Amino acid sequence: MSSILSTCSRAILEVLFPSCCVACGHKLVQGEQAICSSCLNAIVRTEHMFLPDNGIDMLFADWIKKEHRTIHYEHGVAFAFYNRERGQLLRSLIERGKFGTFPNPMVFHELGRVAAMDYLDSELFDDVDVLVPVPLHPRRLRQRGFNQAEYICKGLHSITKIPIDTSHLVRTKNNPNQSRSNFDKRHENVLDLFAMRYPEEWKNKHILLVDDVITSGATLFECMKQMTPIRGCRISVFALGWAHN
Ligand SMILES: [Zn+2]
Repeated sequence: MSSILSTCSRAILEVLFPSCCVACGHKLVQGEQAICSSCLNAIVRTEHMFLPDNGIDMLFADWIKKEHRTIHYEHGVAFAFYNRERGQLLRSLIERGKFGTFPNPMVFHELGRVAAMDYLDSELFDDVDVLVPVPLHPRRLRQRGFNQAEYICKGLHSITKIPIDTSHLVRTKNNPNQSRSNFDKRHENVLDLFAMRYPEEWKNKHILLVDDVITSGATLFECMKQMTPIRGCRISVFALGWAHN
């Protein structure tokens, strides 16, 4: 009896509050989650994985040169544009997923899943041992209720089956004003933001660092710096969006 009632209430709720696409508001059909297929198809991809020396590789090559660091950087990609000209849809999805009236982690899961499908025939996931989301500070995590980078990892994992590690790279400081900072301030803000726990467990591992958006690259570079002392540790980078004009 109770299961019949519960099925009925679910059906009534579905009629009253149908699941709609976060971007366009159209009702989702079976198999769609948070974002409809048309919106997913309309996101403007960078095709980074198929471009030698793409913008993300060049960005981190600059960081490594500027900071005179020995970092075993393999490759980096941003799935889609996040700028004014070509990135409005992705911007709207990420902003609604994070800051909307009802923040929705499934937006990030879905974008990660679709990106993994797009890149399955590329070399991005070859010999990657572990997916590592850029950690949120515990206070920010409590406010939002989820770490969007972790949900991107879950979406990537649903296709690639590569394990996710959220325990070794940790956040030690909060930087609440990062999105409003200028480049130099942003770099200053991220200093000593992260720390490694049990770094020896990442010896000879290939890590895919995952974040939602790459702007200056400073946050991801700070994560990379934490891994430089680990022998044989190689680093690649994945982000959903590239805020490059
Ligand atoms: Zn839609």
